[in-house]
Amino acid sequence: MSEVLNVEEIFAGKVFTLGKMKERLPRNVFKELKRVMDQGGELSLATADVVAKAMKDWAVENGATHYTHWFQPLTGITAEKHDAFVTHPDAEGRMLLEFSGKELIKGEPDASSFPSGGLRATFEARGYTVWDITSPAFLKEDATGVILCIPTAFCSYKGEALDKKTPLLRSMEAVSEQALRIVRLFGNTGATKVMASVGPEQEYFLVDREKYLKRDDLIFAGRTLFGAPAPKGQELEDHYFGTIRERIGSYMKDLNIELWRLGVTAKTQHNEVAPAQHELAPIYETANIAVDHNQLVMETMKKVAGRHGMTCLLHEKPFAGVNGSGKHNNWSLGTDNGVNMLDPGDTPNENIQFLLVLACIMKAVDTHADLLRQSASDVGNDHRLGANEAPPAIISMFLGEQLEDVVKQLVETGEADHSIQGGKLQTGVSTLTDLDKDATDRNRTSPFAFTGNKFEFRMVGSSDSIADPNITLNAIVAEAFCEAADLLEKAEDFEMAVHDLIKEYMTKHRRIVFNGNGYSEEWVAEAARRGLPNIRSMVEASSALTTEKAIKLFEKFGIFTKAELESREEILYETYSKTINIEALTMIEMAKKQILPAVIRYTRTLADTVIAVKEAGADASVQAEVLDEISVKLAESKRALTVLEEKTAKASAISEEKEKAFFFKDEVFTAMAALRAPVDELETMVDRNVWPIPTYGELIFEV
Ligand code: ADP
Ligand code: MG
Repeated sequence: MSEVLNVEEIFAGKVFTLGKMKERLPRNVFKELKRVMDQGGELSLATADVVAKAMKDWAVENGATHYTHWFQPLTGITAEKHDAFVTHPDAEGRMLLEFSGKELIKGEPDASSFPSGGLRATFEARGYTVWDITSPAFLKEDATGVILCIPTAFCSYKGEALDKKTPLLRSMEAVSEQALRIVRLFGNTGATKVMASVGPEQEYFLVDREKYLKRDDLIFAGRTLFGAPAPKGQELEDHYFGTIRERIGSYMKDLNIELWRLGVTAKTQHNEVAPAQHELAPIYETANIAVDHNQLVMETMKKVAGRHGMTCLLHEKPFAGVNGSGKHNNWSLGTDNGVNMLDPGDTPNENIQFLLVLACIMKAVDTHADLLRQSASDVGNDHRLGANEAPPAIISMFLGEQLEDVVKQLVETGEADHSIQGGKLQTGVSTLTDLDKDATDRNRTSPFAFTGNKFEFRMVGSSDSIADPNITLNAIVAEAFCEAADLLEKAEDFEMAVHDLIKEYMTKHRRIVFNGNGYSEEWVAEAARRGLPNIRSMVEASSALTTEKAIKLFEKFGIFTKAELESREEILYETYSKTINIEALTMIEMAKKQILPAVIRYTRTLADTVIAVKEAGADASVQAEVLDEISVKLAESKRALTVLEEKTAKASAISEEKEKAFFFKDEVFTAMAALRAPVDELETMVDRNVWPIPTYGELIFEV
């Protein structure tokens, strides 16, 4: 028997939880802290000093030597700068570890090396990190030792957001305020807050580290830039939910333990569709903490993989021809007195509050489909959304049979007098219990699906922060709630007014509802007929941030200023260009220095063979034919390589960021595909032993 693992005991061992604070802080200090956590406001410096000392003592008892303000700049990953708790030694050379309230509350990293999109000139390098009291501090352990991590927001000297957390917190407050107005209309006066809750399902690939290190593309780009398909792909569907192999199993076990210690409720794990692909889902929590935790999940996945001789790939499309990775962002709204606003109950047709919420969400998603699409785009996700893979780039909503029927009744007759019920699931086997069936089957192809008591936004990329999609969801729904509440609060006959409003919204925005197959060609045509946007790439999606409609939305709720939005759009273009540039340069390097030389050496061997066979008086036509075919592809590759080199150089010379990004997409990215095609063919033609890098078969089937 292996050692017994006590999950209850290890859970949140590395987190300075509310429980630990209560235990370690004087009663009045804890009370003040809790008040600020729940209601906002400012912590006095005296209180902050006491909290800082308690936090430091706990961290030091657990081996910490340093602290860091942990933040989420616009690079999409987290950043940290470590400071030791050491202080000036006294006259006798003794040193006491210290940590003050001021150090806890505010930090000042040099902001000049983080993307700011023109918000901050380099000579105005000041940036501040500010403690996010609502997200607990935790300990991170790595080769540098144990570090106390304090979740913080990151702003410029003028208070502009330079990170993902600040606007997220702003959006949570906005949706809370507007959602409260809605529940109050229905008599819920006990609620004081509405929380956006989020549960992200994270997909990832694992590859053997030795093989990974032999591929520059994986090292520099996180995805394969060359690679012919293996003889077997995912067609047998034998990997999905399949038995988890020993090596992967021991990785998952380690990963879970590490995450549980960090207070992350890792709950579900399974193999995904593609070979070497897996998934982990935690239990949902408040959006802010869910975003922080998802960053920790991604970091921990990578770290633990190293210990098992593997590398974790979070890229959205590490391998062409097999499924890529995404992140299903499950989102809902719950009041602090226990009402899930997205719970329809058994008879949604009678649940007026739910129908109003649903109508508002339909309106929000239809009105801001472009923003939602934008919030899920990153460079890697271009290979999924709108490319040859699901989900499609067109935003639509799946409601399921029951709700769609209720919407239909409301729109067509103005009344909904019944809800389709699920009934019993009959297996036809007497020893199996008959189960209550859900009223609705699943739909796997919808980008935005209602799944019982939440919406599942399935477009998000696997490597991306989930902050942006949740900022967007909170904001657009806040706007719809606000508009509805503005009308309803003034209504003389509330029941009549709410009825009319639900009908109006549902009628107007029904075009966003689609329950069919989102992967089909027919849907693309149908969506065009309905006038729904089909935005195919990240660079095309970026300008959604700065439309008049978007600026109005975000400024109204104090989530982004126009300047912040413009800077974010600029950063997206920069990020796109930089990423594609790295990919192009990596391809050039691999083709020039590894692949073409290997093929050239091979043609030499073939040529020698042809001569030798001929000299021996035998028929060398087969060898000559192979040599010919390879030489043709070699020439094609060389030409494509030259084109790619030229285009990449040309792209880099463009100074305007938007123009540059479009050039990278239209010209460089296309030239990359043109080089990849003949090289992948060469891979299938030459002797396996001469191919200089591990193949798809080796990478995804031999983990
Ligand atoms: P699936 O059927 O998509 O695999 P799961 O039951 O595994 O769904 O749940 C997916 C995620 O949805 C989990 O992270 C879960 O915690 C989350 N989830 C469940 N209820 C809610 C909710 N009310 N709000 C947000 N997320 C939720
Ligand atoms: Mg799911």
